[in-house]
Amino acid sequence: MDKDSGGMSKAFKDPGALPEGFVYRDQRGRYPWWVRSVDRITTEVDASTWERKVVDKILMMLGPQNEEAKAQLEVARKRMLDKMRNNQPGGRLQDFALHYASETYFAAGIDMFTAGFITNMFDVRAAVSTLIHPPDELGVPRWEGTEEEASAMVEAAGIHLGASQVGFTALNPDWLQAMVRVDPQIEEIKTTEDGRILVPERLKYVIVLACQVPMAAQTRAPSQIGDAADRSGYENRQMAWERMFNFIKGLGYQAEMMPGLMIPTIPFALMAGLGEMGRMNRLVSPLYGGAIRLETILTDLPLALDKPIDFGLQAFCRGCKKCAKACPANALSMEDEPSWEPKGSYSTRGKKVWYDDCDRCMDYTGSQHLYCGACLAACNLEQGQQDIPARRGQGPGGQVAGDVPVHGLHG
Ligand code: SF4
Ligand code: SF4
Repeated sequence: MDKDSGGMSKAFKDPGALPEGFVYRDQRGRYPWWVRSVDRITTEVDASTWERKVVDKILMMLGPQNEEAKAQLEVARKRMLDKMRNNQPGGRLQDFALHYASETYFAAGIDMFTAGFITNMFDVRAAVSTLIHPPDELGVPRWEGTEEEASAMVEAAGIHLGASQVGFTALNPDWLQAMVRVDPQIEEIKTTEDGRILVPERLKYVIVLACQVPMAAQTRAPSQIGDAADRSGYENRQMAWERMFNFIKGLGYQAEMMPGLMIPTIPFALMAGLGEMGRMNRLVSPLYGGAIRLETILTDLPLALDKPIDFGLQAFCRGCKKCAKACPANALSMEDEPSWEPKGSYSTRGKKVWYDDCDRCMDYTGSQHLYCGACLAACNLEQGQQDIPARRGQGPGGQVAGDVPVHGLHG
């Protein structure tokens, strides 16, 4: 792993394990009995082969300047209009209208009519930032309290502001994308001439917000109705994210919202105990299943951190495979065991997971002009059966079965 990120790396000797030098909050009562707090994430990571991705390739693929993407969108648009004219369920005019209405305020998707990103969210962000009245403007001292008090307050605020769940972890420089570095010499985030983004070391606390996607519509994926759920999930997450940013600023502390392309959300969410990696190569929450959206805020507000969790998912996914069977692009692994070998061009080396073939996923979703999410809907752990891995003896401390029956959890 890259260790040129200054003093912060000293706290992260062992990737996936709890960093040293931080306060941890009491995990009792955070989850039901079948979710155990542990001292390292349940996904194996290999520091010697860890890869920090250059995301420019992804941005180029999605960007409006990409002729190939434009041509694909043209075909997808025709397909979509055919469905609409044929009144095909999930593709009707009202379904399409619901999809686009679901990202009214913080639109950040691909608009098939301009073949580019919808970026209304930047205007909204500028507007909402005018609502902040930090303590120095008010002439009062900033909020002060212990790390535990700060975490309890921020968590309660996060739920009030629209998150389904809030977790806290530390800014491990190794998890950042290739163009982002932690720099102990600076006080404010800055971008270098060669395009690198430097993050001050003082922003070492990470607030992770998890927002559940509306499930009734998500189960209709892949369709325009499923996309309405997907977009609603992002929009709700976006609102909670903006609001939390304002809250932290309002307390008198620094806050930075950096998109997932720069700060990959999943490693931080794993460390903050919001879920485990599932077969679909996405985070699965013990409370909400796969259909959640994540976002992070960096801050210098001292917080008591959370610990990773184990609810038996690694053993359970070996036999379940429901997400892989639901994938219309055959992009998810049907192998019994996770692997160190990446599959698609966007996969990151250095972790042992059920890698998905993200090229296949992107080809399918692009050709259909759908965000899909059938895998997220399939992993419906949220429907009151979440403790089945534990009850089968696959949970924390239980026996790890080699071949788990498919039926039951999703039956
Ligand atoms: S979102 Fe991608 S990986 Fe998931 S089911 Fe759809 S095509 Fe498959
Ligand atoms: S659907 Fe089944 S195999 Fe896929 S991530 Fe969820 S529990 Fe694991």
